[in-house]
Amino acid sequence: MLQHATPPRGERMRCYCRDCQSYAHHLGVADRVLDSHGGTALFETTSGGLQITQGQEYLAALRLSPKGPIRWYASCCHTPIANTMANPGLPFLALMGACWQGDTQALGAERVAVFGKDAHGERSQIQAHDKIPMSAMLRVARRLLRARLRGEHRRSALFDDRGQPCCHVRTLTREERQAARALCA
Ligand SMILES: [Zn+2]
Repeated sequence: MLQHATPPRGERMRCYCRDCQSYAHHLGVADRVLDSHGGTALFETTSGGLQITQGQEYLAALRLSPKGPIRWYASCCHTPIANTMANPGLPFLALMGACWQGDTQALGAERVAVFGKDAHGERSQIQAHDKIPMSAMLRVARRLLRARLRGEHRRSALFDDRGQPCCHVRTLTREERQAARALCA
């Protein structure tokens, strides 16, 4: 069980990137997580608002490669929970749409869609930027700076007091990564 501070600070977005698609395929939840164009719904926020109230023992995490973000999920049902940086000093947190429950109105309307270059199907059917527009990056940077000033990097539910992940983070092998990528086509 997850809880998020209300009102949540952040913005709803959609990501069509191949990594988000690969992740859903690797977990075997693409049909639940991806829309018909391969998009993943996210709420981009900061780490301080998230609380795990139950089921901490089911927390699992992986990285698609040694460099990417940490992708946290529930080991019991493979539901994606959140993506964070590997370094909790940057209190970035993308809360995955797959774990939203109840009334999501407080998250606001979807503000931006990114990596449309990786989307499936007819591009004209979606309104997405090719990559991440500068305006969205600046909003993220502003939120991160404010969160950092509030000390959120020191109280993440996903990292311990020493800044270490709360559970083992497994990095996919090259074979696993390629297998997941092949399913994105
Ligand atoms: Zn993505």
